[in-house]
Parts: sequence; C-alpha cells; structure tokens
Amino acid sequence: MLSSMFNVQVPLPERGEVFLMNTFSDAQLLVSPDIASLVDTLAARTTPLSDDERETVATLAEHGFLVENRDEERRTLEAYFRELREKRDELRLTVLTTMQCNFACDYCIQGDHGDHNLFAQKMTAETAVRVAAWIDAKLDELRPATFGLTFFGGEPLLNLPAVYALAEHGWRATRERGITFSISIITNGLLLTPEVVDRLLPFGLSGVKITLDGDRDTHNRMRPLRGRQGTFDRIIENVRRVAPKVKVAIGGNFDADSVESFPALLDFLREQEFADRIARVNFKPVIRSTPAAPTGFIPLTEVGGDGRLLGGACMSVAGAGVSSACDSCHFVDEQMSHLREETVKHGFATADGVHMGPCEIHRNHAYTIGPDGAMYACPGFAGEASQAVGHIAGRAGAAHRAAAAAFDRLAAWKQCGDCAFVPVCAGGCSVAAHTELGDMHAPACHKTSFQSALVSLAHRAVEAC
Ligand code: SF4
Ligand code: SF4
Repeated sequence: MLSSMFNVQVPLPERGEVFLMNTFSDAQLLVSPDIASLVDTLAARTTPLSDDERETVATLAEHGFLVENRDEERRTLEAYFRELREKRDELRLTVLTTMQCNFACDYCIQGDHGDHNLFAQKMTAETAVRVAAWIDAKLDELRPATFGLTFFGGEPLLNLPAVYALAEHGWRATRERGITFSISIITNGLLLTPEVVDRLLPFGLSGVKITLDGDRDTHNRMRPLRGRQGTFDRIIENVRRVAPKVKVAIGGNFDADSVESFPALLDFLREQEFADRIARVNFKPVIRSTPAAPTGFIPLTEVGGDGRLLGGACMSVAGAGVSSACDSCHFVDEQMSHLREETVKHGFATADGVHMGPCEIHRNHAYTIGPDGAMYACPGFAGEASQAVGHIAGRAGAAHRAAAAAFDRLAAWKQCGDCAFVPVCAGGCSVAAHTELGDMHAPACHKTSFQSALVSLAHRAVEAC
C-alpha cells in the first residue's frame, strides 16, 4: 500500500501530534508523528510490520489515507467527477429575474452604470411562464429528490412578479411530484421586507443572502444608491425585521481599501439582537477589471465579443452563494484567511476555506437561466451572450452547441497533477480562469489559500478535542 495523493498534514509540535486529513474521503485524524511517518514511508518499507502497525495500517486504509495503487486512485477520482457531473438526484436552478439593479457599486458588472440599467434585461411574464414549463419538463426528466431554486440578478427583487410566479410554480410542481423544494434569494437587501419574506415562506423560502461591504461608512461608499445615498441603515433594518422569519447569510466583497473595515462590521453584527440568527458569514474579494490594475485589486481582462466583463458572481459552495475560490493574488489569499479567522472569532459560521468545491459548474444538472431565457453553465458566466449554452425554448444553434461542448470538456483539475487539493478545488473557478487567464480550461490556482485554511482547520480540530 502507499500514501494517498490526497493526504495533507499539519504538524502540531506544541501537542506532539500531526493533523492528518484526506481531502477525498474527508477523514481527519490527530496522530503521532510515528503514524504520520508510517503513512509516508509505507510503500518503501522493507521490514515486516508489527501487529500494532498492521492494525494502524488497516485503520488508515479504511479512512482512505492508504491506497492500493496510484492508477486505481486516479480512476476512482475520475469516477467521482463523472458521477458528480451526471448526478440526477438534485436539480439546482439559478434564475436571474433581471439584470437591473438599484445600486451603483462601482466594482459590479451588473450595476447601474452609464445606460446599463436602461437597457438591462428583465424577465417578462411570458418568459417566466416558459421557465415554469422548462422546470416541469426537467423535473419529469430527472425525477430528482430535491429541487433548489435560487433567485439572483442584477437585483432579483426588482422583478417580484417573476419571483412570485416561479416560487409558486416551483412549490406546486414539486408538491405534485413528491420532491423536496427550497428557495433562496441573493439580494442587496434593500427591498427585502417582511412582506416579501411572508409571501415566499409558504412556498419554501429557506434562506436569503445579503451583501454588506464593510462597516457602515465603507459599505455606504462601496454600495450606494444611484444618487450616491448610503444603503447600510436600511439594509440592517430589513435584516432586523426578517431575521426572526428566515435564515440570513451575510456576504461581503472586500478590496485593498475596504478590507480593514470588515472586523468593525463583524463587531457591529455581533452586537445586534439578530446576531444569533445569522446562519453564515462569508467575505470574498472584489474582482475588478482595469488595464493597469491598481494595487490590491484582482486584475481581470475584458472578455466576450461585446466587451462586457464576467464577475465570478459565484454562489456555489465554492461558492454556494457563499464564497468563491476566485481569490486570485497573494494579498487576497492572506486577507481571506485573516477575515475567516476574524469571522470565527466573532462567533459566526463561515466556510472553512478547505471544503470549497467542486462547484456547480461540474454538475450537469445545475442550471442558470438569464432574464431572456438564455441558459448558462454557472451564474458567473450569466449575461455573457457568447457563453450561453442554450435557451429554455430549446434553441441550440451552432454557437450554443460550441459553448456547451466547451463547458462539457471542463476538467482543469486534470492539469493539476498530484495536487492534494483536487477533490476540494477541482482546478479552481472557471470564471476566474476565463477572466484572468483567458482560458476557462486552465486551473485558477490558489493553493496557498487552501494551505493556510488547512492550518486553521487543524487548529480548530484541536480546540474541538
Ligand atoms: S465556475 Fe466560479 S463562478 Fe462558476 S460556480 Fe464555479 S466557482 Fe462559482
Ligand atoms: S488549482 Fe491549484 S490548488 Fe486547485 S487543484 Fe489545481 S493545483 Fe491544486
């Protein structure tokens, strides 16, 4: 037997132990340095094992730390990605009800800049009816156990008729078929009133995610209304009113100038009476495009025939609306770890930075539908016409077919060799690779971020003992 290529270790000299994790099986152990060394050296061992060692080897093999041979391990990994791609037990759908937004965040591709809002798409009632028919057909085709519907935009609540129509339809369609249904909304929070929540709760609303970009002053500078008025107080008031009714997750986007204000935001949130109702807090970096990126911003290059930018608006578990692996420079890797630590210190649940993926782009049955009915491989590519993989009406022209074939081939992780993080990273965010490297098939690597998150995970595991 030999050590799995997905083993990672964190020495804990102060305890005289080693934290051992296998990123594929997700097994985590605190072991003595002797056992950690046994894992590493077993393949080359020439002397017979003692009875104790044999027992230890059996336990380590059971948890995936030791494998029979490398070829078989690679085949198992390929089978895992294949199964993930073809999984039919869960239908995930993100619907962009509009690309319009009532905010004017200067880092956002979807915000109200220039005439963008005037011409930004909004889903019509007719298109919503066609999306509902598409949902019915997909539920009948897949017969999934669960259906998760996420509303996103733009600002999704600027098109409440489409939100209500699809929520009610999803509820009815899943009741008729005996499928578990849940709705989540990713919103800037300005229009998230108790009335909206009350209207959606009976149809399966299970969570809302709201964005706060730092403390009050910083957020007001980063996420103003079109007239530059601040939005922080109104959003907080909305959170206060809806938190007793529905799970609230807080997201936030930081850059070099705003990152220092996030601990103050965490202090503020901790003091609120709704603090214990906050289900999750996750911060991620702003992605900004500029020919000569100022210090601290992640450089993006323009993509797409119409010059529009992709924002890596990630909502998957790399993702899941939560955070993306789109943290693409050393500054970001460090700040991500720092903010994760601060978030935990303030008593909020957050992504651990290790269990980040594979994101939904690796699943065939995770769909994104734009306001005009165009379909995309993931929310980060939404709105980029050249990346549409189809249409709810079934129109699949040559461009759609070519885009779909490109997404079907996505497997950046195959270029990652023996990297131990492949099962939880899968080669990183394809949107980040597309925007930063000009090639969605290339790995978007942030290994240092995984490594520092692993050290934190090890220390938290020790504390929990
Ligand atoms: S490719 Fe990037 S933006 Fe798209 S779901 Fe994955 S992590 Fe999120
Ligand atoms: S992108 Fe980097 S961290 Fe992710 S699997 Fe590939 S080599 Fe590993």
